[in-house]
Amino acid sequence: MDTVTCSRCKQTVNSQAITCPFCRTQLKAYGHPGIPLYRARGDEFLCDTCTYHADDTCNYPKRPHAKECTLYQNLEERNLELQRQNQNKSVSVSVNNWIKRNQGLLLIFALLFICFLLSL
Ligand code: SF4
Ligand SMILES: [Zn+2]
Repeated sequence: MDTVTCSRCKQTVNSQAITCPFCRTQLKAYGHPGIPLYRARGDEFLCDTCTYHADDTCNYPKRPHAKECTLYQNLEERNLELQRQNQNKSVSVSVNNWIKRNQGLLLIFALLFICFLLSL
């Protein structure tokens, strides 16, 4: 069994583990077969722009000088994605708030609609 060292608690864990069994840190560099291999361009290292380097959850031995990595996740793209998710969330929150504020009105409309149906 190959082992690696957890970046947070420094315990030895199975290299295939997705989370550290000791401190529950997600170990994203292992255990995800069959996904594309990212390659660094020129003198750059992938880790410099990688989410998992930024949040210190990568325990891949090539870090921080990975030229090729299957687990690379672009930090900027990830941030954009989070922003988009937050925008979507705030839209649905304001729709919910509007419904809450206008519950009485909606109830009246519903009643009127029922009266209208009954009168047919
Ligand atoms: S590019 Fe790969 S090795 Fe570097 S931090 Fe990201 S996941 Fe880890
Ligand atoms: Zn750990």
